[in-house]
Amino acid sequence: MAAQETVEHKYVYDFAEGNKDLKDLLGGKGANLAEMTNLGLPVPPGFTITTEACKAYLTTGREPDGLAAQIEAHLESLEREMGRKLGDPQDPLLVSVRSGAKFSMPGMMETVLNVGLNDRSVVGLSAQAGGNDRFAWDSYRRLIQMFGKTVCEVPGEEFEHALDEAKRAKGTQNDLDLDADDLRGLVDAYKKIFAKHTGREFPQEPREQLDLAIRAVFESWNAERAVVYRRQERIPADLGTAVNVVAMVFGNLGADSGTGVAFTRDPGSGAQGIYGDYLANAQGEDVVAGIRNTVPLQELEQIDKKSYDELLDYMARLEEHYKDLCDIEFTIERGKLWMLQTRVGKRTAAAAFVIAGQLVDEGLIDLDEALHRVNGAQLAQLMFPRFRLDHEFQPVAKGIGASPGAASGKVVFTSARAVELAAEGESVILVRRETNPDDLNGMIAAKGILTSRGGKTSHAAVVARGMGKTCVSGADELDVNVPAKKFIVAGQTVTEGDVVSIDGTTGKVYLGEVPVMPSEVVQYFEGSLDPEHIDNPLVRAVHRIMTHADAKRRLLVRTNADTGADAARARRFGAEGIGLCRTEHMFLGDRRELVERLILASTGEEREAALAALLPLQREDFIDIFREMDGLPVTVRLIDPPLHEFLPPLEQLAVNVAVAQERGEDVAKEEALLAAVRRMHEENPMLGLRGVRLGLVIPGLFAMQVRAIAEAAVEVTGAGGTACPEIMVPLVGAVQELETVRAEAEKIIAEVVGDSGVEVLIGTMIEVPRAALTAGQIAEAAQFFSFGTNDLTQMGWGFSRDDVEGAFFWRYLELGIFGISPFESIDREGVGRLVRIAAEEGRAARPGLKLGVCGEHGGDPDSVHFFHEVGLDYVSCSPFRVPVARLEAGRAAITTTGSDSR
Ligand code: ADP
Ligand code: MG
Ligand code: MG
Repeated sequence: MAAQETVEHKYVYDFAEGNKDLKDLLGGKGANLAEMTNLGLPVPPGFTITTEACKAYLTTGREPDGLAAQIEAHLESLEREMGRKLGDPQDPLLVSVRSGAKFSMPGMMETVLNVGLNDRSVVGLSAQAGGNDRFAWDSYRRLIQMFGKTVCEVPGEEFEHALDEAKRAKGTQNDLDLDADDLRGLVDAYKKIFAKHTGREFPQEPREQLDLAIRAVFESWNAERAVVYRRQERIPADLGTAVNVVAMVFGNLGADSGTGVAFTRDPGSGAQGIYGDYLANAQGEDVVAGIRNTVPLQELEQIDKKSYDELLDYMARLEEHYKDLCDIEFTIERGKLWMLQTRVGKRTAAAAFVIAGQLVDEGLIDLDEALHRVNGAQLAQLMFPRFRLDHEFQPVAKGIGASPGAASGKVVFTSARAVELAAEGESVILVRRETNPDDLNGMIAAKGILTSRGGKTSHAAVVARGMGKTCVSGADELDVNVPAKKFIVAGQTVTEGDVVSIDGTTGKVYLGEVPVMPSEVVQYFEGSLDPEHIDNPLVRAVHRIMTHADAKRRLLVRTNADTGADAARARRFGAEGIGLCRTEHMFLGDRRELVERLILASTGEEREAALAALLPLQREDFIDIFREMDGLPVTVRLIDPPLHEFLPPLEQLAVNVAVAQERGEDVAKEEALLAAVRRMHEENPMLGLRGVRLGLVIPGLFAMQVRAIAEAAVEVTGAGGTACPEIMVPLVGAVQELETVRAEAEKIIAEVVGDSGVEVLIGTMIEVPRAALTAGQIAEAAQFFSFGTNDLTQMGWGFSRDDVEGAFFWRYLELGIFGISPFESIDREGVGRLVRIAAEEGRAARPGLKLGVCGEHGGDPDSVHFFHEVGLDYVSCSPFRVPVARLEAGRAAITTTGSDSR
């Protein structure tokens, strides 16, 4: 303990003491202010109170020992440097108090500007500004407003109302028309509002203002909004926020002052150039608040050439230094430029690729770094079709881009109407205030979903993402009236049947049908755009980065495809085989008849006849697929779903029987089917007679499929191709199941293949938890494992996917029980652990055992990284996700350290 008293913990850092790599300790804003200071850029002096001080405050409920004294010491040196004292009545130093965590978090406390003003120093401030009373009183009223709202929880609207009232009294709409007397009156009004809500006078003591503001920033870390946000974004709850105390500079001192934001490249397209906005005679928060119209940054050249040139020079230096796009906040005080913030800037998906490519060209970063800076989610966004907005379309509302894509269609307000119109071949957009489980059928039928309430975790958003359907949620400018079948937006009434267009990426809503254009990135993947010969910077950048990802990745990427056409498409997208070919669809359509015969067969001969009729049809299916995947492995899954799924539903059969009986027709077949459906009914079909269980219970079924696969392979190979089939047995839980199936299959294969040179592997899915836990035994009988992570998630969590996503996942997400649906991204700790155990024990029993994954997680960026870590050989995903998986597999291979980029 004694040691602790002598070695005092350092809680406060001068800007000159920090740097950009100290984000954990100083937060993003503080670390970057320090970095700019050290680069010699003009940053107003100040200091940063560490996240550790915040954490200590939050655990003990009081400021840690030594903090007050350290703040005092740093404040004194700041005062010395500025030649002014905080709140001095004659010549006051003012400061801003700014929160800044490691990750930027909307919903955290805002900044308080002008701390140090009171009834006396407001006069001194005016004198400092050469007798500018208006400026001084404007600054004071801003302090009371910001301090009241963010430190003392006074409702912000009350200040807004008082301000509006002052403008109305003056007969103006513009803040700038209020003179010093008006503002002095406003300060009085503000103080009354403050006293009414807090039960005390506005604090006049500058140091008390400062301490209260710092404490409020600390406490904002645990505000409910912040807690929920962190849970959802998986930001650790124990990081704490830093607090920056910065000497004020003033952009509101007249026409030779102002404030602005700048980007070193266009964050929209990535194009090089000067982008930003400038607002003369204003303090920083006015730009964001949109009170007055800003001018494009280029115009600053006319307004103040010296500051403009200086700013451009700093921007170039920052880019060179951070080797990335930076965004910047600056203020000009009477012709003197001050830098107030910088960070590596947010950007659109297209800009991310373009900028990464440019920086490689400029020699600032290498291709590994370029690959690291883009991600699969961005690539996926670029693969959606987009609206062509080069003409008159203006959005009428903006909600949350809840599930990406571009969809146009006729407005409907009920699920039933959506189903009706869709059945007539219409595209419809289902519009609701919010959706609930009763809307599921309508959501399936609709092209897109638009709601006026709810965020990214609302029912509509969660379900739409699960379905891959375009959705805009929380467009609160829409006044939706479902009973009246209309909504009102921007003064216009939209009724059922009117056409709207929604953009699930940007959240924008348009009236009428906006034309849709295909994605250039998809055209490139499909081979119709040659990256070497077109002048599209995005396609060139994607090409370059994808090529690098392919060179680096260790994971192979296969596709899930059930038809030759899907296989061909996926191959163009870069698939290196098929990881999951489902055979169920081969029993549908006009083949149902044969399946019915199979199910109803009462003798061995009848059953064999039905199977014999199915055999050549299946063989043709496989021939088609093996040809398209010539030379690449094709994993065929033997039939998986319960057979009664191939029969008509019970009610329909019952009606058919009744109607036929009424008419006196022969109902023998209908009755037999009805009896079969009743006999085969299961309470929990997902846990019933399906997968390997079918193969063991229905004689000849798997044998027919195995024969069709082997015969198709022999035929394709005989015709000069190379078929590489891998037969996969679903739903195995015990090695004995697999051994039984395999013994029969091997006999058939040996018989069919003969000396054709065809090799057929036999392996199993690992999708039942018991299989994962006994993988060592199962591997003795399996030549490969393929993880069926959908079922593994269902059975691992005990979630019936079809039921839970629509019913209550939104609530789980809202509560932060998980940050993302475990069906979307693999649950590393639970389901992922089953994968890890099976991979390790399987390989221990059979070295070199081929391992893959064929659940939907195979195309999810975060899951791909996990599968790389676990050491799988390949992932398999839907054709459209193949490029995303290639990119992420490449990123996984180069990511050696954890990244902070969020
Ligand atoms: P945010 O994180 O919301 O951007 P900031 O802490 O950056 O909050 O501050 C909000 C606004 O106040 C910004 O425009 C910023 O430039 C301005 N600002 C902050 N500190 C100062 C200061 N010391 N002098 C002048 N303007 C400031
Ligand atoms: Mg800022
Ligand atoms: Mg399954």
